[in-house]
Order: sequence, then C-alpha cells, then structure tokens
Amino acid sequence: MSLLTVGSVAFDALETPFGKTDKIIGGAATYITLSASYFVNANNLVAVVGDDFPQAMIDDLHQHGINTEGLEIRKGEKTFFWSGKYHNDMNSRDTVEVQLNVMGDFNPIIPDSYQDCDYLMLGNTSPAVQGLVIDRLHNRPKLIVLDTMNLWIEIANADLLNLLKRVDVLVLNDEEARMLTHEYSLVKAAAKIQRMGPKTVIIKKGEHGALLFGEGKIFFAPALPLEEVFDPTGAGDTFAGGFIGYIAKTDDASFDNMKRAIIYGSAMASFCVEKFGTERVMNLTQEEIQARVSQFVALSAFGLE
Ligand code: AMP
Repeated sequence: MSLLTVGSVAFDALETPFGKTDKIIGGAATYITLSASYFVNANNLVAVVGDDFPQAMIDDLHQHGINTEGLEIRKGEKTFFWSGKYHNDMNSRDTVEVQLNVMGDFNPIIPDSYQDCDYLMLGNTSPAVQGLVIDRLHNRPKLIVLDTMNLWIEIANADLLNLLKRVDVLVLNDEEARMLTHEYSLVKAAAKIQRMGPKTVIIKKGEHGALLFGEGKIFFAPALPLEEVFDPTGAGDTFAGGFIGYIAKTDDASFDNMKRAIIYGSAMASFCVEKFGTERVMNLTQEEIQARVSQFVALSAFGLE
C-alpha cells in the first residue's frame, strides 16, 4: 500500500554527552521515510529544502525507494536548520537554535502521482501546513497519523486543536501529552485527546517505551534496554515511520495490528539511537530488523505456569 509523508527535511547540529556534530542531515520526514522504506515500496515524500541541500542525500533517499517528486528545492534559499543539546539522561533536550529558512513559508505541493495514497503520515511541521496537505488530497486516506511537538502546542494551539479533529492517530511524547491536556495522568491525558478527535493515541516515553490507547484498551511496548544511547535525535520520527510503514505494508489499521506496529516502530527507534543522525537507519537489513523484533518479543514474554 502507498504512504505519503510530509514534514521537515533539515540540517541538524547535535550535542550529546558522547560528542558533537557539525551540520548533518536530519528532519522529521527524513527519518520517517527512511524508516518506512523497510516496509513500503510506494513511499512518497512532501517537503521543502534549499539549494544548499546535498544531491548525494537525495540520491540516498532514492536508493531507499523514496519518491522525491514532492520535494521542492528552492533556488537561492537555505534548508531548515535545527540544533539541539541533550541532557545527561538523554531523555530531555534543549533546542539551541532554529533557522526556519525555507520552512518559514512552506507551501506543500502534492504531485498528481501522490493522490490516492492509502496512508498519510503528518510528520513534524506546523499544524497549518499539515492541515493543507489533508486539504489538497482529493480523497481521504485510510488512516491519517499526526506527529507534533511542544513548540506547536505552545505557539499554534488553535490550529493544532482544529487539526486533531481531522486525524485518526496522534503520536506524541509524555511531556507533550501533559502539556496539551493539562493532565498529569497519561491515562486521563489519552482519554482527553481522544475526545479532541483522534480515536487512537500513542504516547512515547523515551527509554521507558510507548503506550497505545484505542478501542477502550491500552497496550504497552517496552523500549529495548540498550547499553549505550548515542544520539536520540529522530528516534520519535523513526518510531513513527516504522509504525505507519508496518500498518501500510499489512494494510490493517485494527487495534491488534497497531500493537505489532508499535513494536516494529520501537525496534526501528532502537536502531536509530545507536549512531549519530540517520546513519544507522540508513543502513539496516531485513534480517537485523526481524532479529530486533524477536528481542522485543522475548523481552516481556512469560508463561504463567
Ligand atoms: P525527534 O528527535 O524524533 O523529535 O525529531 C528530531 C528532528 O526534528 C530533527 O531532525 C529536527 O530537524 C526536526 N525538528 C526540530 N524542530 C522542528 C520543527 N520546529 N519543525 C520541524 N522539524 C523539526
């Protein structure tokens, strides 16, 4: 089944307790489409970059089967830049600098060949742009998944609340869920979000796994306990790409299948954090992914007798 993803394609500069990078390739849609590429063939990207974005990276996206017809390259303009610094526990980070550049007036273009996509992943960008993508599709996809962040909850709250009425699944982290709902309990927060629109809510808890709420049920996926988390940047997006990629591959958006999908998402995210930037997600094999998923199954499987 086909997937359409919108979101940032960016330059990132990162600092973690393990080291520092200069400008490397990042962006929500970059991680999402790379992660989803292990599951879907029709993997369509909508994003904008400046002409400083390296052709070699676009070639890498093509090598992963990602369709970049909807990637606008603006002449004479610069790519979105984000820099972040992680705290020692790696679960929290500060944004050090943001240069919106081309993202300041991102006007998403949906090529004709992207119309009729089965699944839509609204990766991190402003709720106004995410809403425009839904507006510009002739038919509603089978499932619309929305990712957002603290920034939009703060500065575009009304747009976000309107958008929530139009999506099926919201993916966000625990801090963002509390910020959006003013509820400390994640169970109450999820119930409140469901009343805002999305029937399914996924709350990510970093190294403590992820919770899936839907159909009055709750499912928990652990995160793989890793000896070393090198760089958590993009883990959330890689999770989302694995989740929607698995749903699109299996063409099944039932709650039971979403349980499997968040395990695949968690497995993909566990790779992402092993190296800086997109390096690990760029170089995976199906065998590695299956072996990692098996580790997740073993992690919490037990018999009563
Ligand atoms: P994650 O670690 O999964 O939350 O996502 C990290 C990615 O989000 C980085 O590669 C950044 O380029 C991207 N990012 C950070 N801030 C924004 C923003 N305001 N809009 C879009 N993408 C962003």
